Amino acid sequence: HWVDVQMAPPDKILGLSELYVKDPNPKKVNLGVGAYRDEEGKPWILPSVKEAERKLVVEGLEKDKEYVPILGSGPYNSAVQKFIFGHDEFGKKLIAEKRIVSAQTISGTGSLRVIAELLNKFYSVKKCYMSAPTWPNHLNVFRDAGVEPAAYPYYDLDTNSLDIENLLATLNKAEKGALILLHSSCHNPTGLDATSEQWDQILEVITKRELFPIVDMAYQGFATGDPIKDLGIVIHKMTKMHYENPEKLPSFALCQSFAKNMGLYGERTGSVFLVHESPEFISKITSQLKALVRPMYSSPPCHGSKIVEVILNDEKLYKSWLGDVAKITNRLNEVRSGLYDNLDHSLRNWDHLKRQKGMFSYTGLSKDEMLKLRSDFSIYGTDDGRFSLAGISNRNVKYVAEAVNAVVKK
Ligand code: PMP
Repeated sequence: HWVDVQMAPPDKILGLSELYVKDPNPKKVNLGVGAYRDEEGKPWILPSVKEAERKLVVEGLEKDKEYVPILGSGPYNSAVQKFIFGHDEFGKKLIAEKRIVSAQTISGTGSLRVIAELLNKFYSVKKCYMSAPTWPNHLNVFRDAGVEPAAYPYYDLDTNSLDIENLLATLNKAEKGALILLHSSCHNPTGLDATSEQWDQILEVITKRELFPIVDMAYQGFATGDPIKDLGIVIHKMTKMHYENPEKLPSFALCQSFAKNMGLYGERTGSVFLVHESPEFISKITSQLKALVRPMYSSPPCHGSKIVEVILNDEKLYKSWLGDVAKITNRLNEVRSGLYDNLDHSLRNWDHLKRQKGMFSYTGLSKDEMLKLRSDFSIYGTDDGRFSLAGISNRNVKYVAEAVNAVVKK
């Protein structure tokens, strides 16, 4: 029989969208969910994705809808591995030496869950340090997989900058061998990334405390407008460190998603990678990943991965996709400057907005101010002061900025 079923707390971000839908105000603005919208406020199917789908259907590139293997399609896995690791000299060596496990997963969330489950089964320390704040689902994913979340300071609300001193101090005292979750770029929710020098400091403590890094890469491309350049900072540093000094960084994981940068949200397309110095270990882990995934969801979906395969393997289409990513990034940056320009700088310092990258703006607005934006202006952002910039366009940027000015003035 059922035992004591109570209502679960609603998902904060998705709950916000429900409130937005119910709001009759024609001026309402949805700044909650992190999904891209075009200048008209509409979801956007990337032209490169449409073309890949045309090739699949009209040109008959798609031969069947058979099940893909447990860890995903082989051609997808090798194309994505090459795309992520094949652009730097150490990554290339890791591929050639078969030192990377690559598995197709149910987008970024599935990737995080699979690695968390694997670590819970086979890794000694079941504790994962995460930035404060982080994407709220990170905590749930790891907790539900049996890994206890712990926090490292990240954002200093007083100065709207990276709290690097306290971040390093906390990691310096971290439990030896614990897991640490890092956002590769376009940190969610703050939009604030570590600089190259700060990454060096962070990686130094990671090696000192023998932490196991899990890099979450959900917004690849949106920091610089170029997915390959976005890999630069952390992935390049880590492949180099691991290859040259495996004793310093024996292993690390990377969770990747095509939800945002290909707009494949509902297609649930992503990958998990695990790098290790021993190819024998890689074989064992691969077999254990299969044993883990088979009873969970058997195998990943195949439509999104076919789109990715077509785009990554077709030079012309790949170029066109890079153009689409640049277009998204440019629009987000235009919105960011539009918002900045229309804010009243005599009321508050907004310079941090200009330092942030990606889909989000962490405004520094308090919970009360965010609630006022909701009640008085029908502007729906999360309580922590985060705006999803995709909900803003030329049509409403003034309205949003003036509402913020009004709320701040009170
Ligand atoms: N990581 C971060 C930081 C995210 O913001 C998201 C999406 N909001 C994800 C992972 C996972 O996204 P998905 O499962 O849609 O790929």
